[in-house]
Amino acid sequence: MKKYNFNAGPSMLPREVIENTARQILDFNGSGLSLMEISHRAKDFQPVVDEAMALIKELLQVPEGYSVVFLGGGASLQFYQVPLNLLRTKAAYLNTGTWAKKALKEAKRVGEVVEVASSADANYTFIPKDYVVPADVDYFHITTNNTIYGTEIRKDLDVPVPLVADMSSDIFSRPVDVSKYDCIYAGAQKNLAMAGVTVIIVKDAVLGQTGRDIPTMLDYRTHIEKGSMFNTPPVVPIYSMLETLRWVKRMGGVEAMDRLAQERAKIVYDEIDRNRLFRGTVVKEDRSLMNLCFVMNDEYVELEKPFFDFATERGMVGIKGHRSVGGFRASCYNAQTIEGVNALVAAMRDFEKTV
Ligand SMILES: *Cc1c(COP(=O)(O)O)cnc(C)c1O
Repeated sequence: MKKYNFNAGPSMLPREVIENTARQILDFNGSGLSLMEISHRAKDFQPVVDEAMALIKELLQVPEGYSVVFLGGGASLQFYQVPLNLLRTKAAYLNTGTWAKKALKEAKRVGEVVEVASSADANYTFIPKDYVVPADVDYFHITTNNTIYGTEIRKDLDVPVPLVADMSSDIFSRPVDVSKYDCIYAGAQKNLAMAGVTVIIVKDAVLGQTGRDIPTMLDYRTHIEKGSMFNTPPVVPIYSMLETLRWVKRMGGVEAMDRLAQERAKIVYDEIDRNRLFRGTVVKEDRSLMNLCFVMNDEYVELEKPFFDFATERGMVGIKGHRSVGGFRASCYNAQTIEGVNALVAAMRDFEKTV
């Protein structure tokens, strides 16, 4: 049976990305060696890194004066590495979910942190909007897409200080005005690649300003100077990311990704709002286009498991909601197809008819 992958992360990738990466794992560029067994210093691998960096700059229109870095450690390492490199005295954070809270906690190890607003008391069902970002902070940190709760800040905010953003779960799903950000980071396993590589886009001029003695491996400048080859980078994840970036470009770039995301999300949210069995979990204006969360309506809560089984029998995978929200979460990253969301909606409709 055909499977429809709604996993929240690691998650669905375009089939051709997986096939092309698999081919290179078996025989890298006709060398008779696997991508897994070549040196990252092999002359054939440098072009992979170069092309991936160039495509990131091209697709996101990264201005001059920014560097792209590929590291291991996931977005979680960036929760600490970002303040270590960027926080001089004080930073502001917006607390919109589990990942935002973790980022805030690590920043506190480094310097003074102002939590400008939080929706924790409402189980993160909305993005706070009534807040003032102090003008004397070094940066304002946001989590653009809250993967667990299903809310999203889908525009580049206007605030009096530079932005820093965790874009792990919505990077390359829309155009971004990179000039508003001092730093953007993303673990690749949601929208970009297999797990193992983290992308950091950082403004060069903000580095080296903290007066802090930063350990070599944690200093962005180490990796910028060496083109992300200071030590052994995650070779296969970087290759799979290159294939995804090529795919994004072939598909029409981030504008096309944005249109597709809107289209997919409308199909699913329209059904959530129409179907008497279900309701969405967050305020409509903040709904994520990437992680679509819904639960059974109160009078049908006992049907949660039966619907899950019904959908699973029809090939849906990974639709169980995170334990802190419950219900269901349909993750629709760039690779998700209209066919996939239509299959989910058909399951929701057909299940309603059985009740
Ligand atoms: C998944 C996720 C993370 C954690 O990423 P790791 O690479 O596993 O550390 C952080 N932030 C957001 C928004 C995420 O979706």
